[in-house]
Amino acid sequence: MDCGWLEVLQSSLAEFAARLRSENHTLKRALTDPHMFSGIGNAYSDEILHAARLSPLGLTGRMDDAAVARLYEATRDQLRSWTERLRRQAAGGFPEDVTAFRAGMAVHGRFRLPCPVCATPVQRIRYAQNETNYCARCQTAGRLLADRALSRLLKQDWPKTIDAFDREA
Ligand SMILES: [Zn+2]
Repeated sequence: MDCGWLEVLQSSLAEFAARLRSENHTLKRALTDPHMFSGIGNAYSDEILHAARLSPLGLTGRMDDAAVARLYEATRDQLRSWTERLRRQAAGGFPEDVTAFRAGMAVHGRFRLPCPVCATPVQRIRYAQNETNYCARCQTAGRLLADRALSRLLKQDWPKTIDAFDREA
């Protein structure tokens, strides 16, 4: 288990908010940036944003207090619940890989499968070797975020990294 999880679980809302707003980034980038919140990673950040009903491309500098509080609670709930599940699985002899897709995830690794909350097919944004999964109905008011295919149609290069992805968001 990455001890970075404990860091978020031990932070107050005020500490979490200060960390989140220390730089203006997309939420996806902020949650997966090990200098901001260590140990969350790609899969759990998708799950946290879905639980908080926030867009992965939302900007940390533009979040109101209610959205920050929702994200704080969702982060803690997800990390606690996955900590429990991983502990139970480890006890049963399951292999430990905290960054990968896991059965029981709501959106991560579930492109085109129904969102467990609203049954809308899960969407994705691909970049480099990764993808971000989200539900357009729950998280982006029905708006589809740009995908590589759309990007190509627009004759733009899709960013290679989440950092470039951030600058263009
Ligand atoms: Zn949904």
